[in-house]
Amino acid sequence: MRKHIVAGNWKMNTTVAEGVELAKAVVAASAEVPADVKLIIAPPFTHLYPVAEVVKGSAVGLSSQNCANKEKGAYTGEVAVNMLESVGCQYVILGHSERREYYGETDATLVEKVKLALAQGLSPIFCIGEKKEEREAGRHFEVVTEQVKNVLFELTPEQMANVVVAYEPVWAIGTGLTATAEQAQEIHAEIRKVLAEKFGELAQEISILYGGSCNPTNAKELFACPDIDGGLIGGAALKADSFQAIALSF
Ligand code: PEP
Repeated sequence: MRKHIVAGNWKMNTTVAEGVELAKAVVAASAEVPADVKLIIAPPFTHLYPVAEVVKGSAVGLSSQNCANKEKGAYTGEVAVNMLESVGCQYVILGHSERREYYGETDATLVEKVKLALAQGLSPIFCIGEKKEEREAGRHFEVVTEQVKNVLFELTPEQMANVVVAYEPVWAIGTGLTATAEQAQEIHAEIRKVLAEKFGELAQEISILYGGSCNPTNAKELFACPDIDGGLIGGAALKADSFQAIALSF
């Protein structure tokens, strides 16, 4: 049975004090979430230390939103995987479309980041997804297949077993547009098929999350799809009650 996961990407929102309050509310809300649904929150770097104290001893996992593609040294402004591990992170979001689009993150850089994260014992939440024009041109399968092959095919099965995949159509992120359950399911099934080409049966064990304007209203239909194992949530993760409602949608 694959893990059900609901992960909240806070992006560049909240002050530290607001983030600590939100984390406390998520921990409180997690008491009503069944144990087979893993809740994860991904606050900004500045919040990780105090938020780690809040989630300690709870079922809520802690993730960062990015990491450096280098181990340590003269890389001003970067945050290394051992720093994230030492603050209490268990996960790291990598390859988010906003990182790819605004910060020029490439598949080559992502291979480095994913491998460093795994070597440090962190589980990457690896994001893939097509842009609006790519879907309109009917290239969505091709685009996500390439993203999977360029990065995840560089891993061993032992490494891949610790990766969570998030399919996030770029046109659905923060836009209020959601992929229909049919659109999401068909591409999740394709991603799993591509993973199976390289990793065989292990592909059945990999959690593939949907992301893109997922909210308490549409989560149930999406999560009912056989290849959708949860969600990566942006806007709706900034309120504990909507985040909890999404986690109760399985
Ligand atoms: C995201 O950024 O990962 C995301 C899915 O955002 P939103 O839920 O706001 O569309």
